[in-house]
Amino acid sequence: MPDADADVVLIGAGIMSATLGTLMKALEPSLSISVFETLADCALESSGSWNNAGTGHAANCELNYTPQRPDGSVDISKALEVNTEFDLSRQLWAYLVQTGAITEPRDFIHPCPHMSFVRGEANVAFLRARFKAMSASHCYHGMEYSESHAEIGEWAPLTMEGRAADEPVAATRIITGTDVDYGALTHLLIAHLAKQPGASVDYRHHVRSLRRADGGRWLLEVEDAANDVIKEVFARFVFIGAGGGALELLEKSGIPEGHGYGGFPVSGIWLRCETPSVVDRHEAKVYGKAAEGSPPMSVPHLDTRHIAGKRWLLFGPYAGFTTRFLKHGSLTDLVRSIEPGNVLPMLAVAKANVNLLDYLVGQVVQSKRHQFAMLQAFYPTADRDDWSLAVAGERVQIIKPDAAHEGELEFGTELVASEDRSIVALLGASPGASTATFIALGVLKKCFPDKLTQSAWLPKLKTIIPTYGIDLAKDAEACRRIRAETAPALKIDSV
Ligand SMILES: Cc1cc2nc3c(=O)[nH]c(=O)nc-3n(C[C@H](O)[C@H](O)[C@H](O)COP(=O)(O)OP(=O)(O)OC[C@H]3O[C@@H](n4cnc5c(N)ncnc54)[C@H](O)[C@@H]3O)c2cc1C
Repeated sequence: MPDADADVVLIGAGIMSATLGTLMKALEPSLSISVFETLADCALESSGSWNNAGTGHAANCELNYTPQRPDGSVDISKALEVNTEFDLSRQLWAYLVQTGAITEPRDFIHPCPHMSFVRGEANVAFLRARFKAMSASHCYHGMEYSESHAEIGEWAPLTMEGRAADEPVAATRIITGTDVDYGALTHLLIAHLAKQPGASVDYRHHVRSLRRADGGRWLLEVEDAANDVIKEVFARFVFIGAGGGALELLEKSGIPEGHGYGGFPVSGIWLRCETPSVVDRHEAKVYGKAAEGSPPMSVPHLDTRHIAGKRWLLFGPYAGFTTRFLKHGSLTDLVRSIEPGNVLPMLAVAKANVNLLDYLVGQVVQSKRHQFAMLQAFYPTADRDDWSLAVAGERVQIIKPDAAHEGELEFGTELVASEDRSIVALLGASPGASTATFIALGVLKKCFPDKLTQSAWLPKLKTIIPTYGIDLAKDAEACRRIRAETAPALKIDSV
């Protein structure tokens, strides 16, 4: 006899499982949902407050989403996608506040202007062209642009003090940006889920393996570390939301759709400041340009953070080479992930990305003086004594197989589902937590298309996410309306 039988098993208690579980339980309250988490609490990996940068990614300020075309114009199509994906998260969070599931939005979200900041003539020309393209879209209503030292100094004084008066600089600002504590949010969502009938969250429960069982179900072998026993759990549907642990579980599931995938882990380090006289003078997330040859997730930024009722400044991340897939993982994670099906794609990616590997290894051995010099490029008068190092979460980028087994490195996220839709794994790491609702909706579309109908989940889904099915990048009126409606519920700014 199995120890448990659940409609839905969510592996991992990070923001992704928390969001999917919350949404599914709201759509179908009778579902039995079990969450299994290796560690002793939720949000101890990438979703933890200090393990990510807490940007409410709306592609306002991240320059890697807006590549420049050869003719100098800027392509904002990716930015528009990310921008409107964040609107889905805003709607789910606003619904949870309005229905009392979350009592105080300030427990996880704060208004925080988003700025892009560049130096040098070529970068200034790029930002000008980017502003021209973005400000033409209703999605970026309210975006401001400046090349004036004085004005940028008003927006973010630390970035301009001590800077040569003749240095060409430019910045954009959008005051409706947000700082999100995804760790706090995960705790709120998991607590809300756990108290509902039919839902359970078990910590120190590590999913060791999973295999197909009778009746289209999955049989999971779960190690209960507290009681030192192995449990067997049947599930009708499995979401592998295990972050850096997802690839290993996907491989263990043996589904052919997972064949050939590999992972490329990237570690991260922050500089962190809590000196009130510094922290109180910066109220923004200021994103710069990534260094030549660096991966998109290593774009440096100087961020206001609101964590545990206190304000902080965060700078980084300094991305680095690692062989761990999780912060609490093992140094052998990378080697163990190699199997006959993905060895060729992984080798091909290693060969094609020698510069990236060089860059990541170089970052690991970089001296503290060099790291601090990067901060000073943003904040020229920074004092070393105000800053300490903090270790960020790990990101496992996707190595995707292609027909020629050559493999490609992808910096986005991907849902890999079995043909019968009974299991789905989330691979990849960005834009990340801010788009958890978009990802959860992706799971529903991929695995439960029969339920997304008028006679099943659709009416309730539209109560939770009123713009479901509407392209907010095209529908200006719906975009304006939903932002105006969600802002007061979340106590964030609207223009
Ligand atoms: C440096 C850095 C900066 C980032 N900045 C941002 C940002 O500013 N904005 C943003 O939106 N996103 C950001 N992200 C991305 C974001 O943090 C992630 O996309 C998101 O947290 C992933 O959530 P998750 O639930 O998939 O994974 P995680 O939070 O990693 O959770 C996975 C969980 O699964 C558990 N687990 C693993 N294997 C097993 C197993 N076999 N059995 C049971 N449990 C298991 C793990 O212990 C873990 O708790 C950043 C990430 C990093 C690393």
